[in-house]
Amino acid sequence: MLAGCSETDRPLESPVKLEGNIFGTFYQVTMVDRLTQGQVNELEAGIKTELESVDQSMSTYRDDAELMAFNQAPLGEWQPLSDGLIDVLAISQSIAEASNGAFDITVGDLVNLWSFGPEARPEEVPSDQELNERLARVGHDAIDLDLQALEARRTRDVFVDLSAIAKGHATDRVAAYLDQQGIENYLVNLGGDLITQGYRDVDEQTAWRVGIEVPENGLQRAQHVLPLESISVATSGDYRHYFEAGGQRYSHTIDPRTGRPITHDLASVSVFHPSNAWADGWATALDVAGDEEGMAMAREHDLNVLMLVRDGDQWRSVASPAFARYFGDELVDSLGIEIA
Ligand code: ADP
Repeated sequence: MLAGCSETDRPLESPVKLEGNIFGTFYQVTMVDRLTQGQVNELEAGIKTELESVDQSMSTYRDDAELMAFNQAPLGEWQPLSDGLIDVLAISQSIAEASNGAFDITVGDLVNLWSFGPEARPEEVPSDQELNERLARVGHDAIDLDLQALEARRTRDVFVDLSAIAKGHATDRVAAYLDQQGIENYLVNLGGDLITQGYRDVDEQTAWRVGIEVPENGLQRAQHVLPLESISVATSGDYRHYFEAGGQRYSHTIDPRTGRPITHDLASVSVFHPSNAWADGWATALDVAGDEEGMAMAREHDLNVLMLVRDGDQWRSVASPAFARYFGDELVDSLGIEIA
């Protein structure tokens, strides 16, 4: 320590890493700005406050969450909601429309039925009758929003589940907090949803580098490493959260149109977007749609997307035109990525 310098004034070596757990997953914030111990203590407290406030608002695992109160509110009655929750509901409804219902936050009852929700049901294939009963209730048209009044209502008894987008929103919130605090170079990783700002090495102006995982459970290797500049990425895939029954794999991503877990050759889809909430929501939407329909949607909405598509026991990497524009033809060619 420098003479006459208190513990909190002590400049820290860069990078500074802050880590913890939230939403049943981990977070890691890496900052390369010059910071003192006192500043880092303050930043750590601020980051935790942001994360806890999203959990308190959007978790379906906490009875006291704002979302759970909304899920239990009388049908047809407008409910005043926080800015964050309204924002996430509005993005969710836009993605639901744009994806023809592949993304649908009212899928919660089906998620529960397939054992991936707070009901903690056994990991088994439900009966057709149970499935059809719950499927009949699903539909994003059962949620009305009033964005001026910051209110929402359910018009049918649907169970709203924001697990496919809340993590992305939380990542955005942490990034906005760091921006407000004047931090210029950081990487936020919230359970694999990432957002970058500035550089990994400020003197050399080197971009942050992010690995897109090989889509195999337990294999934490990168299939591709990509340089990211002030953008976020979210990945959905069928390779991490699933159960197996009768030799078949049942993913936690449900196709709201059939009520069943997705089954197709798309192993993972990564979406790059300035907002991680949009990236996260679209990643699930495209995952549901599958490689062909999903890539058609990516082209239609000019989304920056990379898909790993199963090909025997290997994968083909296929990306959208917006991906090629962002990363450049040279990198795309050198990584052997096909543009669809
Ligand atoms: P992860 O990043 O952990 O793979 P995702 O962002 O893909 O998670 O979200 C998966 C979660 O989203 C599921 O556990 C479920 O709660 C919810 N979900 C499943 N299917 C859909 C869907 N079609 N639309 C919206 N949310 C969904």
